Formats: sequence, structure tokens, C-alpha cells
Amino acid sequence: MQGLMMDYQLTLRPILERAYKLFPKREIVTKVGPAMHRYTYADLYQRTGQLAHALEKLGVKAGDRVGTLAWNTYRHLELYFGIPCMGAVCHTLNLRLPPDQLIYIINHAADKVIFVDQTLLPLLEKIAAHLKTVEHFVVMTNTPLQTSLPNALSYEELLAAEPTEYNWPDLPENTAAAMCYTSGTTGDPKGVLYSHRSCYLHAMSVCFGDGLGLTSSDIMMPVVPMFHVLAWGLPYAATMLGAVQVFPGPHMTPRDLVELIQAEKITITGGVPTLWLGILNLLESERYDLSSLRSMVVGGSAAPQSLIEGFQKKHNVRVVHAWGMTETSPLGTVCNLKREMFDLPEEEQYHIRAKQGIPSPCVELRAVDEAGKEVQWDGKAMGELQVRGPWVASNYYNDDRSVGRFEGGWFRTGDVVTIDEEGYIQIVDRTKDLVKSGGEWISTVELESAIMGHPGVLEATVIAVPHPKWQERPLALVVPRPNAEPPSKESIYAHIAPHFAKWQLPNDILFVESIPKTSVGKFDKKVIREQYKDYALPERA
Ligand code: AMP
Repeated sequence: MQGLMMDYQLTLRPILERAYKLFPKREIVTKVGPAMHRYTYADLYQRTGQLAHALEKLGVKAGDRVGTLAWNTYRHLELYFGIPCMGAVCHTLNLRLPPDQLIYIINHAADKVIFVDQTLLPLLEKIAAHLKTVEHFVVMTNTPLQTSLPNALSYEELLAAEPTEYNWPDLPENTAAAMCYTSGTTGDPKGVLYSHRSCYLHAMSVCFGDGLGLTSSDIMMPVVPMFHVLAWGLPYAATMLGAVQVFPGPHMTPRDLVELIQAEKITITGGVPTLWLGILNLLESERYDLSSLRSMVVGGSAAPQSLIEGFQKKHNVRVVHAWGMTETSPLGTVCNLKREMFDLPEEEQYHIRAKQGIPSPCVELRAVDEAGKEVQWDGKAMGELQVRGPWVASNYYNDDRSVGRFEGGWFRTGDVVTIDEEGYIQIVDRTKDLVKSGGEWISTVELESAIMGHPGVLEATVIAVPHPKWQERPLALVVPRPNAEPPSKESIYAHIAPHFAKWQLPNDILFVESIPKTSVGKFDKKVIREQYKDYALPERA
């Protein structure tokens, strides 16, 4: 027997309309140069209507891909809604990809129109001749156009010519809404195509109390770029609730961000650990009022325990650790303590909070060993993390590399994990980053986290270096904290030694000025491994 409930389609249109009807005066704020641009959800709604008309005039039809090359701004938010709500697909382009990969993803997605921030024009101008499908470039600026791009149009002029009311279509919920390419550390990036339904349900999960716990009273600032997994769904979730949104634009230094937190009284924000490490370091020497901040979500790579403890103990800011991937929209796990853990000793609580957490409601996870068997939940047995759920990809977009990654209804993440008795997942490593030493595996993530707990260390990464006897051995690269006493190798070894077996310790520790990062701010281990592949490791006694 069938249930007798409405077959209500989960699309982005009602999210936008609700914010307009219930929160027309709520602000959306963007840092533009030294000034702030402020407008409201009513403005967002009306300009999104104008945008939809303009897209139609440019010949954009249902299912067409429309690229965005932009920072986190109110205009990018207009594109987040205007493009999918009129039936097209919002393809966010990662502005830090090397030119050949940018060309690849634009051609692979067959983008018809690209919207570009004025400051990012040089990136596009350089590659425009290689773009096979783009018919128009729309430049997002208030000033007269100055560009060598063919068929360039002004965003503001396009919008100004259109009415604010648009007759939004009723789309089936499985209509494609947006697409993001993986940051592609090996080979070409792979396309993930999100549906209206997946964006809607994922936004709900961001709002769950046991998710990221967003509410309509929040002032939310996404520091994670809008070109990286739809800024973790934060803009859709904030609009769903009518929360105030604050966008940093291109102003992403630690000082820019703490100034914004202080001035706009941000309550919740999210980004990758390297960024928060920079902020924690800045706060050692400069004072800012962060008392508005109730939650700082950290994901994208492992948050060292010292980061979580540092913010809590020194600045009373709660860091929430979460795990996800482009393929999982991204929210897969969130680390909130279970009620029974509230009375545990502080140190144990921090230890749990440094794990990646338990599966978000609606997401199923399991860890599988090489024989295809689920591993024990004992916090020790390692397996590959597999995931399924309503906001997990079922395939890559037009890509043979889907074969072997989506099997039996599960997505194989390539992350190696342990799961403890309480279901808390800990990422041990990416399969390809683990150090395979004499038949044993060493987790580079655990070593990094421990080294970053040393007070003289700003950033640390660990890689596998080929070794004649052991196959691979770990090498650590360390960036000393500025304005602190430089750490010695011996003091770092002494700091981490109690937490590891002797054979797990790095053979060497090198001090460097900076560590190469990927396009989304993670340590770029592929590049680092290449740099140090011939490094002659000393033996450790
Ligand atoms: P991306 O698709 O670029 O977001 O990258 C996803 C990958 O980032 C995952 O497969 C993990 O290897 C890594 N990752 C994401 N969040 C975390 C986390 N909290 N801790 C450790 N690794 C993470």
C-alpha cells in the first residue's frame, strides 16, 4: 500500500522564496575592497529574477551548464540560485586550478556562458582561446568593461534591463542544479553533478542540531570558497533559514577574517584547517573580540587536536570537526560529543573531538578491508571508508573513471579509516598518502596532528619517501611559528615520541618556510612527494 502524502518536489525555488517572504530585510553582506556591500534577501530575490531573465536572453536553456569564476560574494549567491532555479546547471570553477585543468573542466562540462569577477578576468583571458563551447562571458563589475574576452557583457547592465519578477518553473527534484569538479590531485578533475533534491536535503542536514546546527538567528560567514563543494552547502542552508550571510570576497587573510568576525559579529563560520591555524597564530600577538563566534567548522583535511584545544582554551571558540568530499556534497560526518561523553575527562573529550565524527543522519558509512569484509568497530582495524546516502554521487559526470568507485550502491572514498566502538570515524590517511614501511602502515595524518601540537610549530606535513630497506619511511616538513622560539628537531621528537611506536617516528624533520598547498588549501602531498623523492633519509637510531 502506498502512503498518501504529497509527492512534493525538493527544489531550490522554495528555499529562495521563503527567505524573500519571511526575511526580506535580513542582510547579505560582502566585503568589497575596504567597503562593505549590504543588501537584503528581498534584493537577492529580485536580482535573481532579473538574472533568470538575462540567462534566457543569452540563450541558456534547461540543462545547459553555466560557469562561475568568482570569490565568495552576493553576486555569486545570486548565481547559486538564479542558474538552477531557471533550470540550468551552476558550474562553479575553481579559480586556483592550473590553466590546463581549468580549460579541461570548462570544455568537459561544455559551459555555455561564464560569469567572472572583474579581478579574475586575467585568468580567463589567458585561456579563452582554448574554450570550445563558451558563447558569452559576463563580467561582474559596476565599472565599464575592459577586457580582451570575446562576447563580453556587463552583469549589472544585463540585470538592469530585466524585470524583477520571474515565473520560476516547477522542476522535478532530480533535475541537475550544480556541478563541481574534484580538486584533482591525480589526473584530470572529475565532475560531480548535484541535483536540486541533493542540495535541498544536504542543506537540511547542515541545519540539523546534530549537523552544523545553523539557525535563523545565525550570522554565517562561509570562508570555504563557493567554488569548493558549494561552500559546503552553507549558502543554501543559510538561505533556507533566512540567516544573515557575510561574504569575505577575495579578502581571505587571517587578519581580514578576524576583522570581519569582530565587526559583523559572526556566529558560525567554516573552512580548512590551514586557515584557522593562521588565525590561531595571529591571535597570539593581536587582540580581537571573537565572542560572537559560537561555532567554527573545520574540515577538508584533518584538524589537529591542538587547533581544537587552542581555540577552546584560549579564545572560548568551539571548533567542530567534520569530514566530507566533493562527491558527498560534502557533509558525511560531524564530530559532536554524545551526551554520555559530557562527563568524560577533558583530555578524552578533546581526543574524541579531534576525530572526524559520526555519520550525519541520512548518511550510511562502513569501512571495508581488502577482502571486502566490514572491519570491526574497535578504533584499531583499518578499512576503506565507503558511503551512501541521498546527497552522495552515484557516478562521475561523463567519466570512465566512475568504474570501480561506485560499487553495489556504495561510493568508495579512497580514505582509510578506523571506526571506534561508539561509531566515531577517524581518517588515518588517503590510501595513497599512507607510509608503507616494511609491511606496516604509518598514518601521516596522526604524525602531522601530533607535530602541530608542538608550541613552536605553525604547520607540519608528513610524506612517504622511498627507502631501500623499508620500501617507504616518513619525512616531516615543519614551518616554525613566527615570533616564537624556533623549535629544535629534538624537542619535536620528544613532543611526539610518547604517542607513537619508535618505528613510526619520521626518519627526519626538515624546517621549511612554507608547505605547498592544493587549490583548496590542503597540503599538496603529490607535489611535496615529488620534491623529496630523492631525499636521502638518515637512519634513526
Ligand atoms: P575534496 O573533495 O577536495 O573536498 O577532498 C575530499 C578529501 O579530503 C577526503 O576524501 C579526505 O581525504 C579529505 N578530508 C576532508 N575532510 C577531512 C577531515 N576532516 N579530516 C581528514 N581528511 C579530510
